[in-house]
Amino acid sequence: MTQRTDVVVVGGGQAGLAAGYHLRRCGLDFVILDADASPGGSWQHMWDSLRLFSPAAYASLSGRLMPTQPGETYPDAGHVVDYLTDYEKRYDLPVQHGARVDAVRRDGERLLVEAGSGTWRARAVISATGTWTRPFLPAVPGRGLFTGRQLHTANHRSPADFAGRHVIVVGGGNSGAQIAADLALDGSIRVTWVTQRPPRFLPDDIDGRALFDVATARRRALDAGRTDTGGVASLGDIVAVPPVRAARDAGLLTAKPMFSQLTAHGVRWADGSRAGADAVIWCTGFRPALSHLAPLNLRGPRGHIPTDGTRAPGEPRLHLLGYGDWTGPASATLIGVGRPARDAARDIAQAVSG
Ligand SMILES: Cc1cc2nc3c(=O)[nH]c(=O)nc-3n(C[C@H](O)[C@H](O)[C@H](O)COP(=O)(O)OP(=O)(O)OC[C@H]3O[C@@H](n4cnc5c(N)ncnc54)[C@H](O)[C@@H]3O)c2cc1C
Repeated sequence: MTQRTDVVVVGGGQAGLAAGYHLRRCGLDFVILDADASPGGSWQHMWDSLRLFSPAAYASLSGRLMPTQPGETYPDAGHVVDYLTDYEKRYDLPVQHGARVDAVRRDGERLLVEAGSGTWRARAVISATGTWTRPFLPAVPGRGLFTGRQLHTANHRSPADFAGRHVIVVGGGNSGAQIAADLALDGSIRVTWVTQRPPRFLPDDIDGRALFDVATARRRALDAGRTDTGGVASLGDIVAVPPVRAARDAGLLTAKPMFSQLTAHGVRWADGSRAGADAVIWCTGFRPALSHLAPLNLRGPRGHIPTDGTRAPGEPRLHLLGYGDWTGPASATLIGVGRPARDAARDIAQAVSG
């Protein structure tokens, strides 16, 4: 049976919940369809020791401050899951879990949203499916030759999986630095950390708050019609959260340049030097999970869908939320998604009433 609603939100992570909060305030009828069986979005799948790069107050969605985690300046992923679970309940958001959306299609004046659990005809769709389900692996020669274990950030859980092994961690962002630090501090694991360019650590007294200041400056510049000052992603700096600082100070976190190929039992650099390895962890990022939007034929350069704010000009009933700076400054962060979510809800409310 096909159901009707004003808005279908695809994805019930932080971006989907932020959308729900603002859609409710705009008085719209909506449903949030989320593929995961339980609340928390991708935070429920992240590795055990992950720490946010900013304190709790700087990781809050609209309407409700994230409480501090006892004993921790930088909350862990479990704390974020608890916060999002509470947020969903507190605002009584109509989230259906275990509801993966397979396709969004044009259907006359409405959009047809097809999920395993049912079909909806909606006046608008907000896509908020994040990037976690699309890990990115770079094309590196010899990847198929390596006989050890290869995994991506998305599949890493704990140093216990690598006791006594030699692990190569690839990637100079926050994920690479945190995972390399986590493994190196274990004591039994030998870690080689490789990065494409020398890693840039933020000064120890500066954390993720500085990244949000950059995003705010950018938003103000855009609002005022001035030149784009560049997004959060352009900083690319590593926040020295306590484990990263500890490993760096112990001399355990010095990066080598990227190797040129994998071999059967390790890696080889362009100068001919080699290292054996039992495992390679690729901390090489993610791409937006947009396959459910394929029937709309909107894909532009770099696999993104062109946007004006959150709206897709190629299909004005579609909004994209989260994902990255291309859907709004800091849109892919807890504190940054509130504003684009509010703008998307207001835009839809206006379109629906007009
Ligand atoms: C390692 C790491 C560390 C980070 N640290 C921070 C930090 O410290 N502070 C910060 O603010 N941000 C941080 N971020 C960035 C950002 O906050 C997270 O990536 C966040 O999870 C993005 O939220 P989201 O709602 O856009 O996507 P997700 O959390 O991925 O949620 C997407 C939801 O959509 C669902 N979904 C996917 N496809 C479908 C489909 N076809 N149909 C239905 N549902 C679907 C999924 O099941 C999921 O529940 C970090 C990101 C990573 C990867």
